[in-house]
Amino acid sequence: MLQESLVNIIGRETSATNKRRAGKETSQRTFIPGAQFKKEEQPNEIEDLKKKVSEAQMPPDAQEKALKEIERLETMPPMSAEATVSRNYLDWLISLPWNKKSREKRELKEAEKILNEDHYGLEKVKERILEYLAIRQLVKIPKGVILAFIGPPGVGKTSLGKSIARATGRKFVRLSLGGIRDEAEIRGHRRTYIGAYPGRIIQMIKRAGTKNPVFLLDEVDKMSMDYRGDPAAALMEVLDPEQNREFLDHYIDTDFDLSQVMFIVTANSIDPIPKALLDRMEVIRLPGYTEDEKLQIAKKFLIPKQLKAHGLSQNNLVFTDQAIMKIIREYTREAGVRNLEREITSICRKMVKKVVTKGKDYHEKITPRTVEEYLGVPKYRRLEIDKKDEAGVALGMAWTEFGGELLTFEATKIQGKGNLMLTGQLGEIMQESAQAAYSYVRGKLYDLHMGKELEKNFDIHIHVPEGATPKEGPSAGITIATAIISLLTGIPVSKKVAMSGEITLRGKVLPVGGIKEKLLAAYREGITEAIIPIDNKPDIKDLPKKLKQGLKIHLVENMDQVLKIALTRELLPKNGTPAEEKREEASATKEKTSPAVTKEPELTN
Ligand code: ADP
Repeated sequence: MLQESLVNIIGRETSATNKRRAGKETSQRTFIPGAQFKKEEQPNEIEDLKKKVSEAQMPPDAQEKALKEIERLETMPPMSAEATVSRNYLDWLISLPWNKKSREKRELKEAEKILNEDHYGLEKVKERILEYLAIRQLVKIPKGVILAFIGPPGVGKTSLGKSIARATGRKFVRLSLGGIRDEAEIRGHRRTYIGAYPGRIIQMIKRAGTKNPVFLLDEVDKMSMDYRGDPAAALMEVLDPEQNREFLDHYIDTDFDLSQVMFIVTANSIDPIPKALLDRMEVIRLPGYTEDEKLQIAKKFLIPKQLKAHGLSQNNLVFTDQAIMKIIREYTREAGVRNLEREITSICRKMVKKVVTKGKDYHEKITPRTVEEYLGVPKYRRLEIDKKDEAGVALGMAWTEFGGELLTFEATKIQGKGNLMLTGQLGEIMQESAQAAYSYVRGKLYDLHMGKELEKNFDIHIHVPEGATPKEGPSAGITIATAIISLLTGIPVSKKVAMSGEITLRGKVLPVGGIKEKLLAAYREGITEAIIPIDNKPDIKDLPKKLKQGLKIHLVENMDQVLKIALTRELLPKNGTPAEEKREEASATKEKTSPAVTKEPELTN
C-alpha cells in the first residue's frame, strides 16, 4: 500500500517535471530565431522589398542592382551584420527620387514678384537671375549653366537661392562645402568599407525627395583651398551637364541622373575657385550694402521676419530709424546684414520675455537709448575719421572675405640708416608692395632734396593696427607711400580720404581687386573722398546712387596725383628747386613727376 502510493507520488512528480520542462522548451523556442521563424518572417520582408523596388521607378540598371541585392539578402541569416548592410543599401536605393519631380513653375512675372517679395534692392542681381531663368526655358542645357553668387557673408546669397527655388516651384537643399577635403565626401564610400555611406550629393538629393531641386553648394571657395583626393574634380563631374546625367556615387554604385538639378554655388572669394570650375559658372557679384540699404532691409524684411518668428507684432515692438542706424553703426561692422539680423533677434528675444511677464498688450519703442540697454556697450566706434588730420597716418581700403575694410597705416621714424620695418598682420605680397612703395618714396625724397637726410638718420617703421586677420595683396602700395611721405615732410594726410592702389617703382598706380567692396566700406565709415586707380573705372559703373553722391571718387594714374589729393598741403621741394630741375619739370608736365627714378625699370609686384 505504502509502496504503491510512493510509486504514485514519484510518478506524478516526474510527469509534472516533464510537463514543466516541456513548457520551458516551448517558451524558449519562441525566443530562438530558429528555422520556423525564418520561414514565417523573411518572405514577407523580401516581398515587401520587391514591391518597394518596383514602386521606386528606378532606371533598369538600378532596378537590376536592387533585385540582385534582394536575392543576396534572401540567402543571408537575417540577423547577420551582412544582412544589415544589405538592407541599408536597399533602403538607400528605394528611397532615392529616381523619377520624382516637382512641377516646375515657368512664369517669369511670378518669379520676379517672388524675388522682389524676398529681397530689397539688388536690381541688377535680380535682372540677371531672371535672364538666367529665361534662358533655361529656351535652351535645355545652356553653357555656363551654374549660377555663382560671390560676396561677403550676409549679403543674401543663400536667401536668393531659396527664392529661386520658390520662384521655380522646386525643392531647396543646401550643402556646405567648407572644410570638405576628401573626394569620398562628395562621391561616397565603396560599400566594401565598414560603415560606408553615400556622398553628400546623394544624401541631399534624398533629403530633397525630388530629382530637380535647387541645390545650393555653399562655400565652394573653402573646399578647394585644402583638398585631398581632389573633391574639386568630383564636384566638376557633379556640375558638368555633359557628365552629371550619369553621376556615379561609389556607395550607390549605379548612375543617378543629376541633370535636372539646378545647382547654385556661393563663395566669399573668387580666387580660390579652380579655373575649370569657374568656367562653368555664371558669376554674379554681391559686394555688400550701404547703410541706407541696410536700414531699408532691416525695416522691410529683417524686423517683420523676426517679429513673426518670435510671435510678436508691431503693437508690441517698433524700432525708430535712429535706433536701427545705431545698431548698424555701433554694433555691427560688416558688408552684409547677418549681424544686424542677429542684434535685432536679440532685442526681440528680450521683448518676448517682457510680453510674457507683463501681458500681451505690452508695447515698447526702441530708441538709440534703449538700444544700449538691450545690447550693452557699443562694440564699434568709427575709425579715426573724427579726429584731426595727422602727418604719417594714411587710410587704406582693403578687401577681405568679409567685405571691404578700412585700415590705418601709421608711419614713424626712428634712429637708423634708411631701412624699412613693417609690423601688423601683413601678408607676404603686402610686404613686398611696401618695399616697392618705399623705393618709390626714396626716389621721390631725392627729388625733394630729403633723401640724404633720411639715409643718414632714420629707419622708417610702418604699422597697421587692428590687423588681427592678415591682410594680403598689393593694394596698400599707394597708402604706404603716402604715409611715409607725409611723415617725412610733416604734411598731414586728410582723414576724409581713403585709398587703394598698387604702386610701381616709378610711381605709377596700377589697378586692384575688390573695388566695390572697398568703396562701400569707405562710405560706411564716413569717408568722403576715395582714391582708386584709373584702370578700375569699369568697377564703379554699378555702384549705388547714394554712394556716388556721398563719396567723391578720384581716378588716378600716378602717385603725384595721389599726393595732391591726400595731403592737406602742396608738396614742395625743401629749400627751393635747382634751376635745371625746374626747367625739366616745367617742360615735362604741369603735374610733378619723379625724375630721380624715371630711368629705373618698372617693376610690379
Ligand atoms: P549669405 O548667404 O550671403 O551669407 P544670407 O542669405 O544668409 O547671406 O542672408 C542673411 C540674412 O539677411 C537673411 O535673413 C536674408 O534674408 C537677409 N538679407 C540679405 N540680403 C537681403 C536683402 N537684399 N533683402 C532682404 N533680406 C536680405
